[in-house]
Amino acid sequence: MRIYFDNSATTRPYPEVAEAMQACLLENWGNPSAIHSFGRDAYDALSQAREQVGGLLNAEPGEVYFTSGGTEADNLAILGVAERFQRGHIITSSIEHAAVLGCCRYLEKQGFAVSYLPPDQDGLVSAAQVEAALRPDTLLVSLMLANNEVGSIQPVAEVGRLLADRGVLLHTDAVQAVGKMPVDVQDLGVDMLTLSGHKINGPKGVGALYVRHGVDLQPRLWGGGQERRIRSGTENMPGIVGLGVAARLTRERWPQQVSRAGQVRDCFLAEVQRLVDGAVVNGGLVRRLPSNLNMSFQDVEGAALLLFLDLAGVAASAASACSSGRAEPSHVLQAMGLAEWRLRGAVRFSFGWENTLDEARQAAQILAEQVKLLRRDKHTEG
Ligand SMILES: *Cc1c(COP(=O)(O)O)cnc(C)c1O
Repeated sequence: MRIYFDNSATTRPYPEVAEAMQACLLENWGNPSAIHSFGRDAYDALSQAREQVGGLLNAEPGEVYFTSGGTEADNLAILGVAERFQRGHIITSSIEHAAVLGCCRYLEKQGFAVSYLPPDQDGLVSAAQVEAALRPDTLLVSLMLANNEVGSIQPVAEVGRLLADRGVLLHTDAVQAVGKMPVDVQDLGVDMLTLSGHKINGPKGVGALYVRHGVDLQPRLWGGGQERRIRSGTENMPGIVGLGVAARLTRERWPQQVSRAGQVRDCFLAEVQRLVDGAVVNGGLVRRLPSNLNMSFQDVEGAALLLFLDLAGVAASAASACSSGRAEPSHVLQAMGLAEWRLRGAVRFSFGWENTLDEARQAAQILAEQVKLLRRDKHTEG
């Protein structure tokens, strides 16, 4: 028996995604830029995927740019705007994904000014903080829609209304939010939005950036001029086709899927609280993705607990997958001002539509046993 509670790190592709990708590789393998029938068939598949992704976001197909994933889409948005302006000020939060923070730190070295807004204890940044940070030379606000570690949902639509007539562009990293809550680029009032295939039961190595018509980005890759000159390179057709199918299925299924994930999370949380003393939830439970849970356990190291859980068949993760393996505590939990023991003990459980209530009960039982073992070891050591 193995239980997968790490759906924020990656998700299992839908079988329909794998089938469409295989058909693309075996049958529709033409180059979409070629003018003969092989090329036209591939171009049709590319156009269909663009419509499917646009449909998921309530965007026009012509506003969808395919990339190699969420990381590249974040880079294209932030660096693409910055390089158009050459200088200026950017506002972001201190709990963004490493892709956004990495771009911002790089731009600081290039002479840009960056404000990193700190979250409150619940992992939330407010529109008022954004407003207070605005400067005459502010070019761009990049604020994630949902946080990958604690699932906190940021007030992006409110920031969108705030910036509507100020000539400041708004980008949101919606990689964790898509498929878990309504994500409509018109309602959000964003100019750019990032999504990633493998977080919505699609393939890895493919993502998309929504760019509102009229927003002018500096290309990141130069070459044959694919993706309307913004992102050169022959398209990753199997990945793009797979992403298109994942987008179509996510659009149809997300309300039922996220409600299932939420039921599993709530059951797991209730069981853990019943079985384990000294267990606390990191972050607020109100403005939070139903699929996310982040907890710390008194007198238990998160890294050790993850190892024990894995041996017992439960897959979870420390903070984000990208930073595990490193010893530093999570930058997100640190920014939320949590006590030292909570930083050291933090474990993220993230739930998907395939998880069951039975798994929630079993995993809580296993967790209770492992916490007990670790506490006993600690006690005998001391
Ligand atoms: C996973 C993730 C990314 C990176 O996406 P990749 O497709 O893995 O490059 C970016 N932002 C957030 C919030 C993520 O969770």
